[in-house]
Amino acid sequence: MSKRDYYDVLGISKDASQDEIKKAYRKRAMKFHPDRNSDDPKAEEKFKEASEAYEVLRDEEKRRRYDQFGHQGMNGGFGGGGFENVGFEDIFSRFGEIFGSDFGEMFGGGGRSRGRRSPGQPGSDMKLRMELSLEEIAEGVEKKLKVKKQVTCDQCNGTGAETEDDFQTCGTCNGMGEVRQVHKTMLGQMVNVQPCPECQGDGRIITKKCSKCNGEGRYKDEETVKVRVPSGVSKGNYITLRGKGNAGRRGGEAGSLIVLIEEKEHEEFEREGNDIFYDLVLSVPDAILGTEVEVPTLKGKAKVKIEEGTQPGKLLRMKGKGINGLNNSGTGDQFIRVNVYMPKDLSGEERKHIEALRGNENFAATNKDDSGKGFFSKIKDVFG
Ligand SMILES: [Zn+2]
Ligand SMILES: [Zn+2]
Repeated sequence: MSKRDYYDVLGISKDASQDEIKKAYRKRAMKFHPDRNSDDPKAEEKFKEASEAYEVLRDEEKRRRYDQFGHQGMNGGFGGGGFENVGFEDIFSRFGEIFGSDFGEMFGGGGRSRGRRSPGQPGSDMKLRMELSLEEIAEGVEKKLKVKKQVTCDQCNGTGAETEDDFQTCGTCNGMGEVRQVHKTMLGQMVNVQPCPECQGDGRIITKKCSKCNGEGRYKDEETVKVRVPSGVSKGNYITLRGKGNAGRRGGEAGSLIVLIEEKEHEEFEREGNDIFYDLVLSVPDAILGTEVEVPTLKGKAKVKIEEGTQPGKLLRMKGKGINGLNNSGTGDQFIRVNVYMPKDLSGEERKHIEALRGNENFAATNKDDSGKGFFSKIKDVFG
């Protein structure tokens, strides 16, 4: 069996200081930690390799022996042992020492606590679409969603047993929830820890299953979930509700409920960012003479004054009547696009009136008004 040089494994020089050794190991251990690389079987090998190298080089006596004799110097039979008890366990227990308290957070409980597994199996995440109206988006809203999912059994509180007494300690793992296999290697014993196959890591076995959930600790049901939606969201945004997905099996942690935001098409408004647009059609007399109209807004009806001689294409702005932006990014406006309806099929009487105006200079087509100007100069504030 050929083994890589310990210094090469950690990527350090032969005269590396203890500090450099520790840093190099920390870097590799973080990268190849099995909890982070569950889909890469090679990672665990690399992790073990780095840990093994660290175990030797961190100890001045073992390092001296390794420097002198190489890997053979590490053989238990050579030079009187001193290396029998390095196992995976010790490697993990060393973690607390090196990584400090933040390690636990990073891997969800490292160090010695690795052996303590949470009960049951975790529930899966769920995705759900939620359609919102522009009115709801403008102000933010709290919605209640009916979700069909696995819920925790209320009869057994998720344990899966009929009563608290319907358990017995698992004989295969003696209640530890894990089984250890000890391998003899050149380095001494390596301990491989795995969840107990008999009790799936729970450490106990149900002797009488809950009659309601048949021992699963959960069952399919419909649950109402409250979702708080902030203002200003748009299609493609999603909200993650931790613990609101499928309940775990036999007390396992529940998954997340991921709510995908969809926007309902509005009958009267178009949205552009936080602004909304409304098309207003005026009659010819109203556009010429001016008037007051009622327009819908996201917060009810509002009155808008139309000045005399209002051109088609004019843009009226109602400041602050748009959507409240996400994360207090400001409120949009409502724009009113003015259009003028031209009547057809005039009666004889109507035609006479219009004909009379045709020659009138004031009715001649012209660019002197704002009708020929650019888009933004056509905007007129009418509100707020
Ligand atoms: Zn139950
Ligand atoms: Zn067991």
